[in-house]
Amino acid sequence: MRQQIVAGNWKMNNDLAQTETLITNLKNQVKTSKAEVMIAPTFTNLWQAYQTLKDTDIEVIAQNMHFAANGAYTGEISASMLKSVGVKTVILGHSERREYFGETDEILAKKVDAALANELRVIFCFGEVLADRKSGNHEAVVESQIKNALFHLEASAFKNIVLAYEPVWAIGTGETASPEQAQDMHAFIRKTLSNKYGADVANSVSILYGGSVKPNNAQEIFGKPDVDGGLIGGAALNADDFFAIVNAF
Ligand code: PEP
Repeated sequence: MRQQIVAGNWKMNNDLAQTETLITNLKNQVKTSKAEVMIAPTFTNLWQAYQTLKDTDIEVIAQNMHFAANGAYTGEISASMLKSVGVKTVILGHSERREYFGETDEILAKKVDAALANELRVIFCFGEVLADRKSGNHEAVVESQIKNALFHLEASAFKNIVLAYEPVWAIGTGETASPEQAQDMHAFIRKTLSNKYGADVANSVSILYGGSVKPNNAQEIFGKPDVDGGLIGGAALNADDFFAIVNAF
């Protein structure tokens, strides 16, 4: 049985006071599903969030990190720095990092290596843009993103990897992939993993869907056999909406 996960990516939202308010609201929610719950506040609020949530079953995770251990990388944060504030999981490869900050598959491969070397779990994001979907190129694009960033890893590394398929055209747009489109792609991703690492690895990796998941569509998307949860943007900024999604399993 694969782990079900619902992770909220807060992006560049919420100052310290807003973070405290949202966390208070999250702590008042009741979880009725078995899904693992994670939230990713901004770097400046990770420690506060960790302190407030460390005795709960909401994990505080990071949105990004640099691949270097330390040094002259102004403005960056390393894996060991994340660990020092209680973080055990990091999101890597979000499409906004790829698009606005020039993160390539090669850079992401280095980030994945650094995270795993520091015993962080990775939520690795990837997905096609609209033009790829329209031209029927979406599977090839997704396959190459996964191969380029992850296929140098040993099979054993995948116990610390969660995949997040996020079609770029569905992120923050209000347009979701249909449950069938999500299922087709997740099955394709699992087949791609199986071809390289075998069925046991492929069947053990959780694959999340991200892209305008809301309380009114989560159940249908999570009901698909190869969808193991969601990476949630906008709806993660409201505690009621986020937990409606967490409890959609
Ligand atoms: C995301 O940014 O990962 C995301 C899925 O955002 P949204 O839910 O707002 O589409």
